[in-house]
Amino acid sequence: MSTPIERQLVVFDFDWSLADQDSDRWIFEVLAPELRRKMKNLKKEMQWTDLVAMSLRELHEKGATREDIENALRQMPFHPAMVRGVTALKNKSPPQTTFLCLSNANIVFITTILKSKGLENLFNEIITNPAEWDASGLLKLRRRIDPNGPQHQCKAGCSPNMCKGDELEAFLQRHPAFDRVIYVGDGSNDFCPVMLKTLFSAAAIAACMALSKGMKKAAALHAKCAIGQALGKSKKYSDNSDTNVRVELRA
Ligand SMILES: [Zn+2]
Repeated sequence: MSTPIERQLVVFDFDWSLADQDSDRWIFEVLAPELRRKMKNLKKEMQWTDLVAMSLRELHEKGATREDIENALRQMPFHPAMVRGVTALKNKSPPQTTFLCLSNANIVFITTILKSKGLENLFNEIITNPAEWDASGLLKLRRRIDPNGPQHQCKAGCSPNMCKGDELEAFLQRHPAFDRVIYVGDGSNDFCPVMLKTLFSAAAIAACMALSKGMKKAAALHAKCAIGQALGKSKKYSDNSDTNVRVELRA
């Protein structure tokens, strides 16, 4: 007989995993499409966090306000079934669920969106890039790992601003004794924490991932599948039946 799960950790990437869009791109798509196009052209030449920080400065120079950015974030697509699913999981016990957010977006984008969905108390910890508003309304963003200090040594494809595997390992050392870890992510930098750095055996990890761009829909579905699994739902999900997924996730 298998050991009952009493404590589980659910780790969420944010963009295209918990949320149904990419917050870094979304605000420019909404507020300044020309900057979004410029980012696309510069993506291969600049580190992504630095590019978003530079684009935020340019957006500020164009006159976009803090309110404009916050409104754009609040309108970003976010599936209501995901809100219901994670809320149900948070309230269900046993197993007791701890939520961790590991994201390459930034703390202001994430907390603004979570608050607009009533999820501001979902995560026990949010590990991401720091950002803060200055008095003029500019959102000042910087890398989690300072480019002028020691860098991470990850060779698994993580961006220089953060190694998600290192962060997950450190979190698990600070918070040991989970019976199960469930990881929900869709990006190449989610490969590291799942496949290379976790201390858990493959059997202890439900890795619901889709690594290629063409699999966004599948990634979103798998995210819902993972939450369903964490809630103890065992029904198989079909890949074209969003209605069924929503029914399954009902608390
Ligand atoms: Zn890494």
